[in-house]
Amino acid sequence: MKELTIISGKGGTGKTSVTASFASLAQHKVIVDADVDAADLHLVIPPEIRRQEPFQGGHIAEIDPGRCTQCGECRLRCRFDAISEDFVVDRLACEGCGVCVYFCPVQAIDFSRQVCGQWFVSDTGRGPMVHARLGIAQENSGLLVSVLRKEARAIAEQKGYEWIIVDGPPGIGCPVISSVTGAGGVLVISEPTMSGLHDLKRVNELAAFLRVPAMACVNKYDINPDMSDRIIAYAWDHKMEVAGVIPYDRDMTAAMVARKALVDFSDGPAARAIRSVWENVRDFMKTRGHSKSALKIISS
Ligand code: SF4
Ligand code: SF4
Repeated sequence: MKELTIISGKGGTGKTSVTASFASLAQHKVIVDADVDAADLHLVIPPEIRRQEPFQGGHIAEIDPGRCTQCGECRLRCRFDAISEDFVVDRLACEGCGVCVYFCPVQAIDFSRQVCGQWFVSDTGRGPMVHARLGIAQENSGLLVSVLRKEARAIAEQKGYEWIIVDGPPGIGCPVISSVTGAGGVLVISEPTMSGLHDLKRVNELAAFLRVPAMACVNKYDINPDMSDRIIAYAWDHKMEVAGVIPYDRDMTAAMVARKALVDFSDGPAARAIRSVWENVRDFMKTRGHSKSALKIISS
């Protein structure tokens, strides 16, 4: 079983478009939308929900006014100013540290885990999908990503599937670490700008730290070929595989609007490039070797 996580330094780089197309091209796979703070893969690959589970996030303090003596100890100890003058906990401000619970002299504070989202196992036209809906302003998305990946692995094992395709979150925060740790490989979707290069470096350093083999792909490479060359040069210098480049193509947006994976919508230049990127990624995940496919695409 091979688990591929597709990530990017920031949102809007085409990560979900690439993921949806890979989900269409890969055989025998489980799809995971691990971008739980801004899940949108379901817009392109419509799910039919088969199973729904609550997601238990962190603990939260709740003062029982019947037991509270209003001694003020909890307010004094709370470093997050989450407790009001009349001893009510602000649920959004509470970080669940448990300090107030520990110091309350009369055990007047409940400290239960809160349900802060739902996760789902769905059928799609492209195979099983594991995805989630996190409540507004809820934290612990890293833990939720781990839950989704674990479930996807269980399904893949049960069905004997070869692939897990994970649409990872942007950035390098906790949910990204959760979506990359232990993966078979990551594909970083970049854009040909200075910030794209900067983001690629940060994400590559994270992947190297987590010892996960990393590949790079430049989307819309032809809007700034010089910067694309710099990104590819950086990748080669840092032992990243270059899985390919994708040209700017209006079909990419049109496919999203039509709620379809690009490769199912178009046979234009971007769709053809994504097919080529997928072949390189698939080969890399099997061999972990290097290829110079992107240079061939740029010079052809
Ligand atoms: S520490 Fe306990 S008893 Fe004192 S104010 Fe807080 S909740 Fe009430
Ligand atoms: S659990 Fe921590 S953050 Fe929440 S109210 Fe108590 S002391 Fe403040």
